[in-house]
Amino acid sequence: MTFNVPVQPFDADDDTLRAHLRDADCPALLMTLAHITGDPSVLPEGTGAHGWLHRTNGGLSAEQQAAARAQGLHLLQRLRDAGPSAPTPQPDPELLRRITSWAMGADATDLVPLLSEEIVLAERDPRAPRWRMAQSPANEGFRVVIIGAGPSGLLAALRLAQAGVPFVVYEKNHEVGGTWLENRYPGCRVDVPSVLYSFSCATKPDWSEYFCRQDELLGYFQAFAKEFGLYEHIRFHSEVTSARWDEQGACWRLAVRTAEGTLEQRASVLVSAVGQLNRPRLPDLPGRERFTGPSFHTARWDDSVQLAGKRVAVIGTGASAFQLVPEVAKEARELLVFQRTPPWMRPSPGYGAAVPAGARWLSAHLPYYAAWYRFAQLAPGLHGAPWTVDRGYPPTERAVSAANEETRAVLTEAIQAQLADAPELLTQVMPRYPVGSKRVVRDNGAWFSTLKRDDVLLVTDGIEEITPQGLRTADGRHHEADVLIYATGFQAERFLAPMTVTGRDGIDLHTTWDGDARAYLGMTVPGFPNLFCLYGPNTNLVGQGGSVLYFSECAVRYLLDAVRLLHRRGMRRLDVRQDVHDRYNARIDRATAERAWGWTSVRTWYVNDKGRSPQNWPFSALEYWDATRAVDPDDYEIS
Ligand code: NAP
Repeated sequence: MTFNVPVQPFDADDDTLRAHLRDADCPALLMTLAHITGDPSVLPEGTGAHGWLHRTNGGLSAEQQAAARAQGLHLLQRLRDAGPSAPTPQPDPELLRRITSWAMGADATDLVPLLSEEIVLAERDPRAPRWRMAQSPANEGFRVVIIGAGPSGLLAALRLAQAGVPFVVYEKNHEVGGTWLENRYPGCRVDVPSVLYSFSCATKPDWSEYFCRQDELLGYFQAFAKEFGLYEHIRFHSEVTSARWDEQGACWRLAVRTAEGTLEQRASVLVSAVGQLNRPRLPDLPGRERFTGPSFHTARWDDSVQLAGKRVAVIGTGASAFQLVPEVAKEARELLVFQRTPPWMRPSPGYGAAVPAGARWLSAHLPYYAAWYRFAQLAPGLHGAPWTVDRGYPPTERAVSAANEETRAVLTEAIQAQLADAPELLTQVMPRYPVGSKRVVRDNGAWFSTLKRDDVLLVTDGIEEITPQGLRTADGRHHEADVLIYATGFQAERFLAPMTVTGRDGIDLHTTWDGDARAYLGMTVPGFPNLFCLYGPNTNLVGQGGSVLYFSECAVRYLLDAVRLLHRRGMRRLDVRQDVHDRYNARIDRATAERAWGWTSVRTWYVNDKGRSPQNWPFSALEYWDATRAVDPDDYEIS
């Protein structure tokens, strides 16, 4: 796999170009046209608003789509005839503003700085560090340790390598990929568009599916590590079990468990890239140990267990179950699905679909098309999503605002349309909480068509106990099962577990957090100098426009800036000020109280036992990008 391939010259005839254009995403095509021709008047008035509920081809009429394709043909002909010398200018800020405002359906002046990093040709990497660490005696012995070779750890590794900063990555597994290595249950795929669930510095024009499968994504991260020479920096089968801050030495002292025993290591800066969603949560149900058949969690898939001919029970109806259940139903003799809280589902016809050849061709050949297509996916999260509570509405457990109610109506209609012939099922699956309180899952029709099968049963009575042969529900019924699969999620709130982390004056990170993790910008914690968390507290985006990887890009840029700051000032310790940290977290908590997940009483992994969300970012994706562009030295005690 090669990344960042420059757009290729082409000599295709007009009919071939027309065929490619039939597969174009028209909003992306129109934005590309406006950009390359410098003429935003090609964008049809009164269209283009990219709300949270994406419409296929932006809701453009058939005539508008045909016009876009016709103009696209002229542009492609021009580019073909001009050959490699065809000019492909960067958009100027005003052009960016006009195109982006069209896409957002509102003035988007605020997005221009971000977009000037996004709308670039594949071979450009505007987020790469523009400095290099000097090789000087003062820097001798300086090294960064990254814990984890999942997506965030790999990106941090690349950026440190680009800045010439010595680093090593410790990874407990045998391979890179993190959660995408560990989760390989049938049906596992990304439920964020592939073009967004990839790094802006490693674009891939030929994703095979709009939401690619786990193996393709794992292959992407492996290729990323290979292409950028990261494997040589990674120590596999190496688990950091503890980290202790050494004030005198201004470094972290690590214990790393390896096959050869526990090694002592040193880190000038420590980066935790251990993820949130990789410690399986098994439900606290009586009898779990007594079940006599095979049982396992989705993230610990047991290939040795044959499901064919078996009566299989799946507990849970979250994002993992949603992908797994339709696949298991194809294999098992009978399938029981235990649902506690039904999820809201978002119609996503492209989910599970192949990217047509023409669309892939355009990404590889039409300058900036891939970037504008990516922007079209990113756009909905950039100004937030419809889950802000409107106190005047007034909010209820039905909807928290008028926009939230409108979204609910669209999603409700989509569910009803699929279950017109199954009224009983309809009652069972209709959520009774505001959209956005829980993670909204992708719906391409597979979930309900599976639940409607004769050999599939949805059970909505609460599970009372697990028995040697199955599960007993609150209505007293016993449901026999040969195999039990826990699609019951992760201990997401246990950030950095099971590591022991000891900061200044011997303070323990987990004691400090007391089950309620907080950090400044999701990254730094007072009393734990030179420690940076990636995908740390309150960095989970619910807006469905960015992705975890987008947040990692922001956080890694900030990390690099912190390292640069230390070096520029000849300093060794960077410790976030308590008041800065506290003010920031108070702001997070105030905003969370005004979001559907902070407001509702429905139980979710977004909120911990203390009733607080250590998980979600309550603002727009744009705000995180803005907040992490550079370190403000005044936020830190630097010594
Ligand atoms: P989850 O969203 O936490 O879902 C766990 C499910 O198990 C819920 O339906 C939960 O019910 C149910 N459950 C837990 N204990 C139960 C019990 N005692 N009885 C009955 N039901 C019980 O976990 P997940 O599906 O693994 O997803 C976690 C997160 O991982 C997602 O939100 C997403 O961020 C990420 N993820 C991403 C992808 C992707 O991109 N492809 C795929 C999978 C997961 P309640 O809802 O009532 O608690």
